[in-house]
Amino acid sequence: MDSDSEDAACFTAKQGLLNLHNEAQTAWKRMNKLSRFLKSSPFRVVAIYATVSFLWIYFSDTLLNALVHDPQIVTRISVFKGFLFVLVTTILLYFLIRRDVLKMLQRDNALRESETRLRRFYESGMVGAAYWNTRGAITDANNKFLEMIGYTREELTAGKIEWNKLTPPEYRLVDEECVKELRTMGVNQNPSEKEYIRKDGTRIPIAFACAMLDEENGIGIILDITDRKKTEEALAALAVAKSKFASTISHELRSPLAAIKEATNLVLDGSMGPVNDGQKDVLGTAKDNIDRLGRLINNVLVYQKMETGKFSLVLNEDDINDVVREVHKNAMLLAGGRSADLVIELGADLPKIKFDKDRIFQVLTNLSTNAMKYSESGAIVIQTQLGNGGIHISVRDSGPGIKTEYLEKIFEPFSQVGDHHKEGTGLGLAISKEIVLAHHGRIWAESEARKGSAFHFILPFEEIGSK
Ligand code: ADP
Repeated sequence: MDSDSEDAACFTAKQGLLNLHNEAQTAWKRMNKLSRFLKSSPFRVVAIYATVSFLWIYFSDTLLNALVHDPQIVTRISVFKGFLFVLVTTILLYFLIRRDVLKMLQRDNALRESETRLRRFYESGMVGAAYWNTRGAITDANNKFLEMIGYTREELTAGKIEWNKLTPPEYRLVDEECVKELRTMGVNQNPSEKEYIRKDGTRIPIAFACAMLDEENGIGIILDITDRKKTEEALAALAVAKSKFASTISHELRSPLAAIKEATNLVLDGSMGPVNDGQKDVLGTAKDNIDRLGRLINNVLVYQKMETGKFSLVLNEDDINDVVREVHKNAMLLAGGRSADLVIELGADLPKIKFDKDRIFQVLTNLSTNAMKYSESGAIVIQTQLGNGGIHISVRDSGPGIKTEYLEKIFEPFSQVGDHHKEGTGLGLAISKEIVLAHHGRIWAESEARKGSAFHFILPFEEIGSK
């Protein structure tokens, strides 16, 4: 067989299958129709009535003829039987119809009630609501919707409002996604956001969700989100202004502070002439405070950069245990008399993962410095292990602990909680959180009052893109 006749055979076979499929579908629809008819309540009433009548006539006549042989008595009994039949079937019919009519009335009432509720909601003016069809027309709408888009009821009745023309071209994709979901689910699970072009050409931001009522028609609920959008824009502008302000102030403070520090150092180390012990003491305090201010400014700048996403990770495959060892070494130098308290428990055979070594060093230094700062005695344990879809790192201490209500708040910038204030900026944990989140990880704290605190973070195995 040549390829043309093969194609023709294929085509005929396909056509045959299609016809078969159509016929099967038609037969199936007919069967469904018949089964619906057989289950319908008028058919049931008639069927029960006919069965009872047939049984009654057949058996009562057979019995009568078998028992009575006098034709006159048979006639009288037949008349009586006829009356009795009418009476019994009338009562039966009454109860059957009453039951169905009552059910129908109940259903009717429930439907009317839900319709009234829907109409009240529809006309309430809280949200816009519109009926539409798949051909693009808006067939009915409440006043709120008309007010949103700036059209009149007359224009609506004249069929001048088309939903696809209300949507600006850049939001067509949003509409397409919604229609796709409506076709498969019959209803939009979540509201979408877009804009409508009003009659006067201006735009209005809206959130909307739709539901199909039948194959062709649907209803949409539309919310005017102008106020929310304005608030969002104002907040975004505020965040930019805040960030700009903080970085300007910090940069402006940095240079004079460096000069003050330099000058203090010169006086303190005797370069400007002899300094007595009392003066050294005062200058020492001044120097500590200058350092503190310097750290605060640096932290503010670092946090601002992170908050505005202006930092990137330098990702390399590394061993987290190496970083912990380095942090531990540094902490031992700082710990002085408490160095014996610092313990590390490193998970064996941890896989190398991609992370920014310097940033994670910063997180671990911050957590271990806090542990030393807030606990006066007792062990401080830095632990690494596998778990929760990545490497789980924790720093535990046996200090005063943190109240449950503060466990999340401490990760917010400038939050210093509880009554055990130590020198600090309140930014360390906020910065740590940004770093861990940039690694797609998770950081959290656990604590039991007076039993110490534990800080945990996870560095996930998944490939991390740089932020
Ligand atoms: P700070 O510079 O104040 O230490 P952080 O952001 O590092 O700033 O910590 C925020 C707050 O969380 C601290 O002021 C302290 O109240 C609390 N905190 C942090 N670590 C601990 C800890 N190990 N034990 C008790 N409280 C802690």
